[in-house]
Amino acid sequence: MQVCFDSVGGGANPNEDWVGSSPALAVVLDGLSTAGLSTGCRHGVPWFVAHLGGHLMATLADPSVTLPDGLASALERVAAIHPECDLANPGTPSATVAVLRQRYGVLDYLVLADSPVVLEGTSGDHTVITDLRVDEVLPELRAEVEQYETHTSKHREALQRLVLAQRQVRNTPDGYWVAGANPEAARHCITGSAKIGNVRSAAVMSDGVSRLVTEYGMSTWKEMFTLLRMDGPRGLIETVRQTEATDPTGRRWPRYKSGDDATVAFCQW
Ligand SMILES: [Zn+2]
Repeated sequence: MQVCFDSVGGGANPNEDWVGSSPALAVVLDGLSTAGLSTGCRHGVPWFVAHLGGHLMATLADPSVTLPDGLASALERVAAIHPECDLANPGTPSATVAVLRQRYGVLDYLVLADSPVVLEGTSGDHTVITDLRVDEVLPELRAEVEQYETHTSKHREALQRLVLAQRQVRNTPDGYWVAGANPEAARHCITGSAKIGNVRSAAVMSDGVSRLVTEYGMSTWKEMFTLLRMDGPRGLIETVRQTEATDPTGRRWPRYKSGDDATVAFCQW
């Protein structure tokens, strides 16, 4: 597996996405926005995703370890290195997870929350593996955020209300699951496998990139893969940014930030 990747922060704040790869593994994490609210952790989201990513690369290096088991172990290991923080805080640093691993003739994938893995089949078809449970909770509060232009105080206040409410249902059976301090989240991933001979290429990405197709409707998956082959991950991210620049305050495409952190790992054989 040949992997190339890029990750670009969406604004002045530190990039809260993380990406890593080896010849057998591609991992993308998207740290959840804290909206300026307390987390109980003095290290912060960029620290959390960097450590979770590094530990995932280590636990998943052993092909006999399943993707959910590797994620559970990595979550335990990261929790163990900051026991002085309040890991029971409902706002504890958390991330979405998207993993693709080659193991003998098989590709295994794992998705937790809305960072998708997209497989391009040898016949030109696209299979999207994504977990949209986060979009099914709190529709009223999400609609409230989306009615305001980004960079306004009303937008910021509505986003804080949404994030506070999300924390109440995050990692509970009635809500949605993300990778935080509780390894139980690894039991709620979407997982599956594909035969390597049936896959031409694959993209593992944060929703800051996939939204070009899913939210903005400015590309098809086929066009996105063509762009990845021609211009690489940086070219794709620049296209996302150029699209967002045509709607800087989120009137056409209501969203949480004018530009989200954007990450993609492109895998080819
Ligand atoms: Zn901490």
